[in-house]
Amino acid sequence: MSMNKNRQQNSEIRSAFGVILVPHTVVTPMKMLLLSAALLCVAGTLSACGPAEPATRTTTQGATPDAAPDDASGAGDRPRVLTTFTILADMTRSVAGDRIEVVSITKPGAEIHGYQPTPSDLIRAQDADLILNNGLNLERWFSRFTQDSEAPTVTLTEGIEPVNIAADAYAGKPNPHAWMSPKNALIYVENIRRALTDLDPAGADTFQANADAYAKQIREVDRQLSTQLGQLPPNRRALVTCEGAFSYLARDYGLKELYLWPVNAEEGQGTPRQIRAVIDGVRAQGIPAVFCESTVPDKGMRQVAAEAGARYGGDLHVDSLSDEVPTYLDLLRRDAEVILAGLTEGQP
Ligand SMILES: [Zn+2]
Repeated sequence: MSMNKNRQQNSEIRSAFGVILVPHTVVTPMKMLLLSAALLCVAGTLSACGPAEPATRTTTQGATPDAAPDDASGAGDRPRVLTTFTILADMTRSVAGDRIEVVSITKPGAEIHGYQPTPSDLIRAQDADLILNNGLNLERWFSRFTQDSEAPTVTLTEGIEPVNIAADAYAGKPNPHAWMSPKNALIYVENIRRALTDLDPAGADTFQANADAYAKQIREVDRQLSTQLGQLPPNRRALVTCEGAFSYLARDYGLKELYLWPVNAEEGQGTPRQIRAVIDGVRAQGIPAVFCESTVPDKGMRQVAAEAGARYGGDLHVDSLSDEVPTYLDLLRRDAEVILAGLTEGQP
């Protein structure tokens, strides 16, 4: 490597530190650790450092100008709320309006259960004014993520009656996908409203009005799903998926549930035993269509479809928003359409 190139790399390291260091005045041991990790990332190959992400404060600066609410305190700097995944971010934005900057740690389309926080994620946690998580063991990475953050954390499933997982190693543990019930979503929204009001008391009326309007929309989608899925004849009321992520939805709308694995894990494909059990179940019950989720491989479920003589009914969305389903309510509507179309296709 030439001297010139070395110099160039050093200045890149300095500029990376410049960006990261600016907001902090106190360097704790944890921060030193993070900075070391950041140094390794800059000095080594970037591919070893996870996805490139904007530096800590750039998004704040980019989002601030036209957002200053009428009665915001300070110099237009909005409070910053981090959520663990995109669905919580969307719900939170619906309640927060423009008063608060809301950022999701995991990105659209990401696998969220076994996510590995990056050094920049950990730094963002330190800069947050509030962190919102799902709980019910969804974010297995969460305690590591918050261990050095002083931001208060609020668990949005507080007050929700969990449905327990029936099968495999997770048997008896709560199913984390509580948001897949619109009725539960109303509890999430109330928990968000309270947390934002604690954070920004001057916004209480705004948050209340936004939460009321959003809750009304959620109830409408609940009624819509109830009507749509209620059209399914009794012998087609079965939802077969890769992850057992639809227990709350199946409960709400009277569907039987079959799945390859209970909760997404590293292996993520379905074991031969799991695939065999679902093939047998689909055959025995004459289920016409099976589904898989957008964030996991569908290979195992395609095998189920082929061997059980069922259709592959399409991808469902559950753990993450995407271009296809940019909001939580879009996600629910889309899933209901795909389920209904898959299970009624070819119906006499
Ligand atoms: Zn999941």
